[in-house]
Amino acid sequence: MNCMLCPHKCGAYRDLNTGKGNCGLPLSPKVARVAPHMWEEPPISGTKGSGAVFFSGCTMKCIYCQNFEISAENQGVSINAQKLADEYKRLEEGGVHNIDLISATQFLPEVIRSFDIYKPNIPIIYNCGGYERIETLRALEGIVDIYIPDFKYSDNKLGREYSGVENYCEVATEAINEMLKQKGKLTLSSDGIAQRGVLVRHLVLPNHTKNSIGVLDILKENFGEKITLSLMGQYIPHGKAKNHPKLSRRITKREYQKVLQHLMDLELDGFAQELESAEEEYIPLWDYADENASP
Ligand code: SF4
Repeated sequence: MNCMLCPHKCGAYRDLNTGKGNCGLPLSPKVARVAPHMWEEPPISGTKGSGAVFFSGCTMKCIYCQNFEISAENQGVSINAQKLADEYKRLEEGGVHNIDLISATQFLPEVIRSFDIYKPNIPIIYNCGGYERIETLRALEGIVDIYIPDFKYSDNKLGREYSGVENYCEVATEAINEMLKQKGKLTLSSDGIAQRGVLVRHLVLPNHTKNSIGVLDILKENFGEKITLSLMGQYIPHGKAKNHPKLSRRITKREYQKVLQHLMDLELDGFAQELESAEEEYIPLWDYADENASP
């Protein structure tokens, strides 16, 4: 196919074994880790964990990505739709609260096929950077129960400079609008586990409180009380960001407090991470084993 899956709209030729275009990946899915994950928000991880499937590659190339070995360097193991379906079943039988597809857009046709093979009886989460096409999201209608998009930038220049994408702000706003149309506001079960809806994440970057405040304003203006926000302060410099003049340190308490105060002033619904949790660095092991690979 000539790939138009994400807003880069490369039109590059891709098949199961050949990968071109901005993401540089074939259509056959590559995964770096499939395991219960306890580090999402409480309604997502719950007590038994989220069934995380970390896909390799990404439609965004954030220079500070904590998963840069898989998102930028495309590390991982190729598997097919059948094997993906088997993994969903294994996670579900292990008791996780949901299946959490992390950065799957570049493999969408095979991911959709995997759910034709097996659709778990727990919520399916689509976890992405917010840089999505409406057409692609519509293909997920009926499969996905919960969308977890980032809203990273209120300033498109930052999107270009830090993530290699154009028009981030408009694209992410339209994408979240479509997600809300499909799933509505985040709803929880009686025991506090997310069942359907949209949870928007925003990571506060060092030296960029103005960007964060702009993001909160955009969310409030466009979506108001329909939005549930997760404000994250656990930024730790990774990859190219380690040597970046603005991104090479953690955020300060003062920076976080300023953004948090704005969130409270706007009365946005959601979760705010304890800044103390940023003290602990957590990066998953990219340990999906070769013996699990499909021939
Ligand atoms: S998924 Fe990859 S090849 Fe397809 S449009 Fe996006 S970056 Fe280009």
